[in-house]
Amino acid sequence: MPPLQRKLTAALLVTGLASTLSLGGIAHWMLMRDFQQSVMDEAFAHFSADALAYLQRYGSWAEATRYQPFPEFVRQRHRPPMPGDAPRPRQGFDRRGAPPFHFLIMDPQGRILKGLDGLPEGTLAPPEVRATARPIRVGDRVELLASPQGEPVLTRRDEDYLAAMRQALLTGMAVAVVLALALGLLMGRRMSTSLQLLTHAIRGMQKNRELPRQVTVRSGDEIGELAQAFNAMNAELTQAHRDLREYAELTASQSARLKELSIRDPLTDLFNRRHFDEQANSLYQQAMRYGHPLSVMVGDLDFFKQINDDFSHAVGDEVLRRVAVLLRDGTRKADLVARYGGEEFVILFPESTLAQAAHCCEKLRLAIEIHPWHEVHPQLRVTMSMGLSDTLAAGSVEKMIAEADSYLYQAKHGGRNRVLPAA
Ligand code: GH3
Ligand code: MG
Ligand code: MG
Repeated sequence: MPPLQRKLTAALLVTGLASTLSLGGIAHWMLMRDFQQSVMDEAFAHFSADALAYLQRYGSWAEATRYQPFPEFVRQRHRPPMPGDAPRPRQGFDRRGAPPFHFLIMDPQGRILKGLDGLPEGTLAPPEVRATARPIRVGDRVELLASPQGEPVLTRRDEDYLAAMRQALLTGMAVAVVLALALGLLMGRRMSTSLQLLTHAIRGMQKNRELPRQVTVRSGDEIGELAQAFNAMNAELTQAHRDLREYAELTASQSARLKELSIRDPLTDLFNRRHFDEQANSLYQQAMRYGHPLSVMVGDLDFFKQINDDFSHAVGDEVLRRVAVLLRDGTRKADLVARYGGEEFVILFPESTLAQAAHCCEKLRLAIEIHPWHEVHPQLRVTMSMGLSDTLAAGSVEKMIAEADSYLYQAKHGGRNRVLPAA
């Protein structure tokens, strides 16, 4: 049983049991009080009937006591019926033989006529005794006062009656306890089920923040309100999470795009000079560390100014784009191809000797030369001169580029459209 359900059930059980027990206690107390009252009423009715008969026979209490003591009169009056006696009506409980109370008898002013222990005849009864006294009347006139003294002595029938009542009360309480137990379990379970649904949903939410979770609680109490608030909060949170993820994805793709833009040349989409320098430097360091070959090529389009002048700047741009494609398609993935300046290109060949690089560059040179340039313009001819270096010992990649550049200069002067040193 989950802790909350246990607590709720225990609370309901304790409440149910406490109210059942206190209700039973009160009911028992009231039963005893009312029963004693009815016993006393009955005893008083008998007693006052006897007292009145006594008075009627002798005129006054003082007269009567002179002729016959009251107890003797009562005994005589209630002796067992003798043959020939007129039949006596039976009234309610017959308590003869077990008088429940002794009555103190006083005149209407409270003077004791028939004394009891500690209350002698002829004295004035104390106020607390007079307060409990009941009048015995003849017509409207109060003839005597009678005050019950001592605890009631219950008859066998009284005891049986009380035992039966107590039994009924106990049975009722046992039924109430069983009911409290069943209801406690049921209500505790019902109340905690709603809360369990909520805790379940919250745990699920912690695991997967983007999965919307809605709790179905139909109660209109605080738990229902809590569930509604949870549902609303969860919907908002889920949306916020989605927005955040989308935003993060957008930011990531934008920053990737920005990074890509920052390393590429917009016209040819080849790497730009800055990126080439960075990469070439680290490739140079690697080659030096492991003693691996590395070659660099610097290429420059021949008479490019003329191309611009003769066929337009737009044609010049198209030539640059197509040359870029030819360079990229004619090299390996590991080779680093970049646009270095206006119509200057550089290629870094990792793991390549000068001979291997020169061989590759010769193929590139030829590819440029034989490209169908007439597609761009009927009279268009394009060639490229290239200089190479594999001198790792030069000290830096810049120095290797400078050496390749000097070969390029020689190639230009040697008639252009060639690779130096040749393969
Ligand atoms: P050489 O054979 O000696 O290299 O002659 P060249 O005309 O190619 O040399 P030069 O350096 O005098 O000319 C380079 C020209 O390239 C100058 C410039 O207008 C042009 N150029 C540079 N960048 C671009 C570009 O982005 N687009 C176009 N269309 N032309 C460019
Ligand atoms: Mg140039
Ligand atoms: Mg040029």
